[in-house]
Amino acid sequence: MPSVKAENSYHVAVIGAGASGALVAAQFHKRVHSHLKLVVIGNQPRPARGVAYETPFQANLLNVPAGNMSAFPDDGKHFVNWLKARLPGSNAETFVPRMMYGDYLAEIFEDTINNSTRIEYLNATATALNREDDKWIIQLNNGAFMEANSIVLALGNLLLPANPINFDTAGSAYHLNPWSPEISKDLNADEPVLLIGTGLTMIDVALSLRESGHHGHLHAISRHGRLYQTHKPYQARPLSNLPKDFESPLGALRWIRQEIKNDEKSDADWRAVIDSLRPYISTIWNLWNQTQRASFLRHARNIWDIHRHRTSPEISNQLSALIEDKILVIHKGSLISVRSGGNDVTVHWQDAETGDCKIINVARIINCTGPSRDITRIQSPLIKSLLAEGWITSDPLKLGPQTDLPGRLLNANGQASPNLYTIGPLRIAGLWESIAIPEIRKQAAELADLLVSELIESSLLSSS
Ligand SMILES: Cc1cc2nc3c(=O)[nH]c(=O)nc-3n(C[C@H](O)[C@H](O)[C@H](O)COP(=O)(O)OP(=O)(O)OC[C@H]3O[C@@H](n4cnc5c(N)ncnc54)[C@H](O)[C@@H]3O)c2cc1C
Repeated sequence: MPSVKAENSYHVAVIGAGASGALVAAQFHKRVHSHLKLVVIGNQPRPARGVAYETPFQANLLNVPAGNMSAFPDDGKHFVNWLKARLPGSNAETFVPRMMYGDYLAEIFEDTINNSTRIEYLNATATALNREDDKWIIQLNNGAFMEANSIVLALGNLLLPANPINFDTAGSAYHLNPWSPEISKDLNADEPVLLIGTGLTMIDVALSLRESGHHGHLHAISRHGRLYQTHKPYQARPLSNLPKDFESPLGALRWIRQEIKNDEKSDADWRAVIDSLRPYISTIWNLWNQTQRASFLRHARNIWDIHRHRTSPEISNQLSALIEDKILVIHKGSLISVRSGGNDVTVHWQDAETGDCKIINVARIINCTGPSRDITRIQSPLIKSLLAEGWITSDPLKLGPQTDLPGRLLNANGQASPNLYTIGPLRIAGLWESIAIPEIRKQAAELADLLVSELIESSLLSSS
């Protein structure tokens, strides 16, 4: 790329203004170094909310109780205190609408920007990054350029779900993006809908459709047909050390089963066993080699996910009511083909239990299988340019880009790219557990420490 004149210069540019970007800015603000400048570049109309907390539906609740949703790792009651002032009767066990959590994040971000002369927000899309004279040059979709010493990619999930089969023949009845407001466009309230997947996205979409007035039949299909478990208060039993069994996925499974069995005798809850592992998940993930990780993904991922990511009791009750009333039918099997005919799409699927080929007729199909992580398939010009230049590289299991433990992106030779960091969902390949607020808030604080210390160190070196 020819040399360009950057219009603005920053010490740090955070690309992406969802929860991760907002929390990095808030943590940076807490570290008082008056000369360090940071810009957050975000491309949604309302910053800080991101995809998860921008939802317009009251029925979309947090799937984590308020007590564990503080934005700050050193102030665990921050969200609950904010909430109590706004929602009478709420407490640490309350599951609030996600839009309300969006208000909380937006307020934190607004305070950060308003109370700082060195932190700015820019509404734009970053389309490419190039390295020049020890700086990153950021290209924006409006044709402008800016430069920064360090970059934080806070881009969220980025990829839409993968297509389990070819949907070309379904035409406009098929929706790949479950978060698009278009999913219910031109859908009559009584027309049947097929939701692909039976996880948290399926639940979200089913309840959003109901809230927007849809009352037709809903079908949901997945290979195992398993629904996510429900939260319930329990007596925590934190681990003081990681047991040795975790050196292999099989050992881990044996340990979990045995602990749950032991606890059942004392009436303790399995949730306590699962959650006791959460602080150790990235350590466990890093104990496993690629073959062991692949084996986990193939054999244990689904069962782990439905126990680890749980729904609120309210959501669970609503889902059970839909199932009992036969409005929502869960199918266990796999899709074979779809064919559009008039207003209907005929879906052929294979029942996992009987092996029979069955048919469902629906007016709409919505892919709720969750985001794909394979960055080699990505449309984002920014990620494409970083991959093409070799600044980032895909994890062999296609779980995202490769990163090191502090969150630096690794280049095609496996070395840390200079001053190029990431946070949140793009760290899954390196940490496994990296998408929810309890992990993101910790990463944001650690990243701010690292950025500030590296920037100060480099400015001392350049002035000596
Ligand atoms: C539906 C849903 C519900 C969830 N519920 C919970 C929950 O209850 N509790 C919990 O702890 N976690 C939950 N999560 C996990 C969630 O991933 C995190 O809580 C958090 O929202 C992730 O924030 P993020 O900023 O990393 O990503 P995002 O929120 O996706 O934000 C990334 C932002 O970057 C922008 N962007 C991307 N590329 C560019 C570019 N080139 N230039 C500029 N901007 C760009 C995107 O448009 C987006 O605004 C949920 C996730 C989803 C999807």
